[in-house]
Amino acid sequence: MKVRLAFIFLFVSSFFVFSAQVSAQELGPHFKKIKDGIYVYTAQLNDSNVTIIETQEGVVLVDTGQTPKDSHIVMAALKKVTSQPVRFIIHTEPHQDHTVGNFAFSPPGIVIAHAGATASMKNADNPANIEKRMAVSPEMREAYKGYRLVTPNIEYRDKMTLNVGERTLELYYLKNVHSEADTAIWLPKERIVFTAASVTVKRFGNHRPFVSIPDTLSAIKMMKALNPEVVIPGHGAPGTAKILDDMEQYYNLLLERVGAMAKQGKSLDEIKKELRMPETADWEGKDRFPNNIEAAYRAVKGS
Ligand SMILES: [Zn+2]
Repeated sequence: MKVRLAFIFLFVSSFFVFSAQVSAQELGPHFKKIKDGIYVYTAQLNDSNVTIIETQEGVVLVDTGQTPKDSHIVMAALKKVTSQPVRFIIHTEPHQDHTVGNFAFSPPGIVIAHAGATASMKNADNPANIEKRMAVSPEMREAYKGYRLVTPNIEYRDKMTLNVGERTLELYYLKNVHSEADTAIWLPKERIVFTAASVTVKRFGNHRPFVSIPDTLSAIKMMKALNPEVVIPGHGAPGTAKILDDMEQYYNLLLERVGAMAKQGKSLDEIKKELRMPETADWEGKDRFPNNIEAAYRAVKGS
């Protein structure tokens, strides 16, 4: 009798998808609940964030984890939240610390990124680097089992709207803020913005030669104009619009000081040696401060 009931239960339940209101604690120590059905996972401070967005028509993931170990933890958490599959994966940027875990979710997940992401991921795909990352620990090697490079199925240009179940996600290209293909995501009903790596939380961004502070300030202005309630950066703890304000303040101050020194006729090297920013004394990634100064110098010199 018991066996027969179990069979009936299995048979009937296969017609229903389950969706559970789970607390972040039930998912694991590194999860944070943002709103009903929306959870952020960060393995450790400054690792990339992964966001689970549950919808009536499946799950949308924002990025896939700092490492495949994180991807598997997210996968296990997902199964506690819903029986539905991952339908879409959106990349805020193409770097491997946001995309390496794609293979764990796709297929069936359809990967979406801005134009340029596929080329960036293919350029960076290097077996020697992967071997180095796997060699970190036996658990990491295990997590890489089945690894293959999974590049975007869809590359959009400038703007894209994705409607999944009851949710709407607006994707915006952010030009010259961090990588070749940065995407901000805006959920208008939930008032959540994903900033990609355009802003950081008490940490210097890594400014490659093409990164533009004026373009980054435009991106921040655009995101502030959305009037978000929750701000989820590419790395660092989610918070409020203060994250955007703080970053804007930092860049304005940096431009002001570098601009004043350049006006006095100081060279880039002199500015790098002399410039002090006590406001950022508690920030991480100080080795990146010189490339922040370079970006500010490019901006004030108009090059
Ligand atoms: Zn990156």
